[in-house]
Amino acid sequence: MTAHVVRPMVNRDSQFFWDGTRAGELRIQTCNACGAKRFPPGPACQSCAAYDRGFEVAAGTGTVFSYVVHRHPPVPGKELPIVIALIDLYEGVRMVGEVVDVADGDDGPDIEIGTRLRVDFNTVDEELTLPVWRKA
Ligand SMILES: [Zn+2]
Repeated sequence: MTAHVVRPMVNRDSQFFWDGTRAGELRIQTCNACGAKRFPPGPACQSCAAYDRGFEVAAGTGTVFSYVVHRHPPVPGKELPIVIALIDLYEGVRMVGEVVDVADGDDGPDIEIGTRLRVDFNTVDEELTLPVWRKA
């Protein structure tokens, strides 16, 4: 078991997201007034400024918009390098996430712009489950 991981900030705006990962769901915040989707979650809609918000469960598929290979500095609980990507979800929002099992290809990271990904869930402990991405 890893002793330390970087724990995300969970607050009133993001609680639904972390409840979702615990349930094996990738949730996207939606506006109940106009239907706009948004990430990261926030209190008000960026399209119509309404506060009435809900969520939908994403299909869990996306493509790489861009990525970085993180080699330094050390990250608690992580063996470097790791790949962090901006992922365009099928639903039309862009999310940041770690892509696992691609950092150490024969010719560098085994990932490129447009690589298709599928979400997976990494249970850290009973309170925290982190979404991770794998090649589809
Ligand atoms: Zn709205």
